[in-house]
Amino acid sequence: MKKIKMSTPIVEIDGDEMTRVIWGMAKDILIQPYIELKSEYYDLALEKREETKDKITIDAANAIKKFGVGVKCATITPNAERVWEYSLSEMYKSPNGTIRAILDGTVFRSPILVKGIVPFIPTWEKPITIARHAYGDIYKNAELPASDGARAELLLTESNGNENRMLIHDFRETGGIIQGIHNTDKSIRSFARACFNFALDTKQDLWFATKDTISKTYDRRFRDIFEVVYDDEYKNLMEEAGLEFFYTLIDDAVARVIRSNGGFIWACKNYDGDIMSDMIATAYGSLAMMTSVLVSPDGTYEYEAAHGTVQKHYYNYLEGKSTSTNSVATIFAWSGALRKRGELDGIHGLMNYAEKLELAVVKTIEDGIMTGDLFSISQAEKKEKVDTETFLMEVGQRLHAFLI
Ligand code: NAP
Ligand code: MG
Repeated sequence: MKKIKMSTPIVEIDGDEMTRVIWGMAKDILIQPYIELKSEYYDLALEKREETKDKITIDAANAIKKFGVGVKCATITPNAERVWEYSLSEMYKSPNGTIRAILDGTVFRSPILVKGIVPFIPTWEKPITIARHAYGDIYKNAELPASDGARAELLLTESNGNENRMLIHDFRETGGIIQGIHNTDKSIRSFARACFNFALDTKQDLWFATKDTISKTYDRRFRDIFEVVYDDEYKNLMEEAGLEFFYTLIDDAVARVIRSNGGFIWACKNYDGDIMSDMIATAYGSLAMMTSVLVSPDGTYEYEAAHGTVQKHYYNYLEGKSTSTNSVATIFAWSGALRKRGELDGIHGLMNYAEKLELAVVKTIEDGIMTGDLFSISQAEKKEKVDTETFLMEVGQRLHAFLI
């Protein structure tokens, strides 16, 4: 078999701990035997971030901007323990946060469905994709405690010096707390465009919800911007594709999502998306079966697994103990990136490879071969728990059979 050739490189971002181990194995077993991999490699292992004072993360994000498609391994976001463990000179920020800030994107998360792993909501036959607006609201807030007798006001100073004041609360009786949040029209517009583009790309309806009955200016602005972007730029395209844009209140959306069969994109404001993506991931069975892609308004894509570096498994691995870590989300990050590269460059072989790789993963699990996390929740009659590497080898055998 001739290896598939690529024309443009993929930005490959390596990471930490158990996911780094899986990364290497997946490349050796599943990718390099079939593809002449062209990649711009950035090593975001915590040691390398320390060596470069985190410049490597910024370089990696800029490379995605340049080449358009990236695939990222999970990375450690340092906390105090990690600073000590890795003798860091600083508590570096989350690489995902840094990359998101540079690419200004929307994160889409979708579960991978396989027979035998039944969602906790059994009517969810198709995946529900959460699109989370990754800018502003409480994640960039200003908040203060308010003492007894304090008076809190909003003050907006316009560019011409005009002052616009509004009472938040008079803490005459008792103290409390206040919070100021913001968002920008530009960011909301980018979010809306990313959602409509993703809906067209993946041929799914788009739902969007806010609480605009209560938040008549703030949430209302989100609703209005989505409606204008839809009417001006996407209505015809969506209608031609037979797709629906559906707006409702967030509480109504929650009720409808639970009763639905899945198969749509649910666009969420930042906080709603944070919460709902964990609910969706859990309800579908496992965080290790969740894919994640960051789509920027200028059309760049970064694929990753939704889970972390699986530290506990890594420490077992270092002690030479057998591990049974699920590599599915990492494999789907690669297949997603290679498919997108194939689409952008018109390389059918690459798109076909990506499809076959995903089919091989699903077939392996449906044949009853799975890692421990799935073994414990699978309802398959015949099932076997295998170790990290065996799972990848089993996928490799099926992939080979699909490709020759
Ligand atoms: P985690 O790596 O997602 O793992 C938490 C637990 O979930 C694991 O101990 C394991 O449970 C289970 N799990 C997650 N992924 C699995 C997989 N692929 N296969 C099998 N089981 C899996 O989260 P964490 O332990 O909170 O974080 C570890 C490190 O990851 C942290 O340093 C954090 O900063 C980083 N992190 C990175 C990203 C990212 O780069 N996108 C995201 C989140 C966290 P059992 O131990 O019960 O088997
Ligand atoms: Mg969350």
